[in-house]
Amino acid sequence: MDCPRDGVTLEIKDHEGIEVDSCPQCEGMWLDHPELDQLEDTRFDEDDSKGTVAYAVRPSDIACPQCSGPMKTFNYRAYDLPLDVCEAEHGFWLDKGEETRVLELMDKRIKDLKRSGSAEAEWGKMLGRLKTKSFSDKIKGLFR
Ligand SMILES: [Zn+2]
Ligand SMILES: [Zn+2]
Repeated sequence: MDCPRDGVTLEIKDHEGIEVDSCPQCEGMWLDHPELDQLEDTRFDEDDSKGTVAYAVRPSDIACPQCSGPMKTFNYRAYDLPLDVCEAEHGFWLDKGEETRVLELMDKRIKDLKRSGSAEAEWGKMLGRLKTKSFSDKIKGLFR
């Protein structure tokens, strides 16, 4: 599979225990949807189950690295994180800057909540969530 931004072959990397296809050049990441409900045990916490998952849906400027089909860009909830998602639900694309930004936001959130744990761990948890079937079910409405 090649990077939808620069065409470089993606490499599989382990990110906080979650396997992602990562671009060695632009450091963007591709997250597949799981084949089965294998990650169904990773659930949205109470905080995350409230409100709308996706805001500001618009056509994406990249094509799906898996099917070359059109993708849509949306902002992921309160994080204001832009994600590109394949309309045929193959997965998500995250640009490098988007990852850095969400780490900063999570770091701040953890401080606000006086929680133990690092932003990196929170980020790993979030990647896991994005890969769950329940998450993909939640964003199906985008394409209706
Ligand atoms: Zn790239
Ligand atoms: Zn696709």
